[in-house]
Amino acid sequence: MTEAFDAETMGGVPDGFERLWTPHRLAYVEGERPDDGPTGCPLCRKAEEGDRESLVVHRGEHCYVVLNLYPYNPGHLMVCPYRHIAWYTDCTESERDEMSALTQDAMRVLRHVSGPQGFNIGMNQGSVGGAGISGHLHQHVVPRWEGDTNFLPIIAQTKAVPQLLDDTWRRVSDAWREDH
Ligand SMILES: [Zn+2]
Repeated sequence: MTEAFDAETMGGVPDGFERLWTPHRLAYVEGERPDDGPTGCPLCRKAEEGDRESLVVHRGEHCYVVLNLYPYNPGHLMVCPYRHIAWYTDCTESERDEMSALTQDAMRVLRHVSGPQGFNIGMNQGSVGGAGISGHLHQHVVPRWEGDTNFLPIIAQTKAVPQLLDDTWRRVSDAWREDH
């Protein structure tokens, strides 16, 4: 079952790194035209919608932090500049510095909320780099627990459950307000 799933969704590349970093494409495959510019961009839209609706947990001056709609693990966050820029090299100094600071904050908040033992942090750059929304820069912050890799296929296979996401959103955004 797991093998069949991997072959189908990962293009037959059963690589741990691929498996970790590419399932987020699933979230935006249908009905999204993320590379058409800001108009069709889900990350631009999230920046404008209400926090609960869009699962935004924190808004900074240049960047915001949002729950991934199809998380690898509970609490999977993305730190994004408000501006529709594709490349890390497009960041102004202020955007770069705030992305960095918010990544640290995200780690602290997640530790407080759910005590992960580790994290994966990173940016996929360009479609060939595995970016699901290649037009809008975003840094993944994925909390990790011992043994959770066993659950990744199951999690990726499961459609997002609104109540669980809503609960995670509440816990993370509450903790963010308390800690900062
Ligand atoms: Zn955008």
